[in-house]
Amino acid sequence: MDIAWDSFRLAVFDVDGTLYDQRRLRLTMAAQLGLHCARALNLRTAHVLKRYRRRREHLADAETVDFERVLEDELVAIHGGGGGPLRALVTDWMEVRPLPYLAAARRPGVVDLFDRLRRSGKIIGVLSDYPARDKLAALGLDADVVVSATDAEVNVMKPHPAGLQRVMALAGVSPDETVMIGDRAERDGEAGRRAGVRTLVLGGDTTAHWTGFTDFRQVWTAAPSAGAA
Ligand SMILES: [Mg+2]
Repeated sequence: MDIAWDSFRLAVFDVDGTLYDQRRLRLTMAAQLGLHCARALNLRTAHVLKRYRRRREHLADAETVDFERVLEDELVAIHGGGGGPLRALVTDWMEVRPLPYLAAARRPGVVDLFDRLRRSGKIIGVLSDYPARDKLAALGLDADVVVSATDAEVNVMKPHPAGLQRVMALAGVSPDETVMIGDRAERDGEAGRRAGVRTLVLGGDTTAHWTGFTDFRQVWTAAPSAGAA
């Protein structure tokens, strides 16, 4: 893959589906959730989580500001039980329980690419629509700048470019010196296009706006050797 790494100072990575295989993790979590509901003799947790994920996708499409509060209000109105307990349930299943399974689902070549970028003096950024710090630690990865759509300074999900612009502002790097790496053209690719940032889309097609790739080892082999930057 032809990437002129010398002209880039900042690489920004999406997390879910990019740094690890999200389909694999979801199969594991679906099995856990099935077991949980069988023991509880009801499907409430499964229903809440399904609605949470579906509505969150819609709020990303709509680029709704303050989406977490909107989502919580909707869940409370439909499922009852109060905002606190519902938030705890969602955090437990979406953020905490997956952590032990992340490392096994990590994409091949990611650790090498991070090492290579760091040795070459590049800044490593992470931009996720979910909180990302605990996941990065579980994946054994370290980034210089970590931004989530849930941060108060962002408060809106991709494809809105605000999160990517926040990463660049914190890193002090301009769009033409930044490369975004994600797994969803309609989210990561579109955010990159709107921010004026070159974007690589894992598993995606190459278009006028972003470049598809299939394996991080392609990106790795195109990265500069140590000291080249
Ligand atoms: Mg993703």
